[in-house]
Amino acid sequence: VISCKNLYKSYYQGKLEVPVLHGVNLTLNKGEMISIVGASGSGKSTLLHLLGGLDIPTKGEILLLGQDITRISEQEKCRLRNQSLGFIYQFHHLLPEFSAQENVAMPLLIRRTNRLEAMERAADMLEHVGLGHRLTHTPAELSGGERQRAAVARALVTQPACVLADEPTGNLDRHTAEGVFNSMLELNRKVNASLIIVTHDTQLANQAERVLQLIDGVLV
Ligand code: ATP
Ligand code: MG
Repeated sequence: VISCKNLYKSYYQGKLEVPVLHGVNLTLNKGEMISIVGASGSGKSTLLHLLGGLDIPTKGEILLLGQDITRISEQEKCRLRNQSLGFIYQFHHLLPEFSAQENVAMPLLIRRTNRLEAMERAADMLEHVGLGHRLTHTPAELSGGERQRAAVARALVTQPACVLADEPTGNLDRHTAEGVFNSMLELNRKVNASLIIVTHDTQLANQAERVLQLIDGVLV
């Protein structure tokens, strides 16, 4: 579903190079769930952004559903992303002017699902993550953990082939974190979705088929 070969990423601050990834190799198979752990600042978010086509590597190849996303147009990349990917950002990135329900309906509307059905599925998904009573709240009217759960609902509502989740349970208490994690496992079972979960929570990380650690810019 996703693979990368010899992936390098440096950020640049003026002329100063900030090297982060030094040759990362990874293959995520259909229906597989892997977790990525590593110290703060080790490059986990950077890696997910690259794999999801949200940023461009300094060097290396990334295949998303067989297409090398470092070589296709921005438009084609967007299409591929909308069609096959659910992304959960470390900092939710909900749209502030829309309600929770509208935020979750958004990826469906982008895929031209009709509004009534999109809103219904969004409500169901929010119910699923325990936010059935907060449909009309805007992000500012939700708690931190509720925002995060809304972002999880938004990523899962299209039942994507692949989910990239950056600390999806970071702000949540144990019970709620397990609920959110189970929603992802359920998608994995139901539609054989592939998952990459970045987490500091070792208990959740260990439930994946493989646990990879990002250390000194490479995955081990
Ligand atoms: P955390 O667990 O704290 O979320 P992380 O493993 O996700 O950390 P990244 O966000 O990928 O870490 O950042 C990796 C390194 O790259 C950090 O040292 C960070 O300071 C640096 N970095 C991130 N974005 C930029 C940027 N735009 N410009 C320069 N340096 C950056
Ligand atoms: Mg991060």
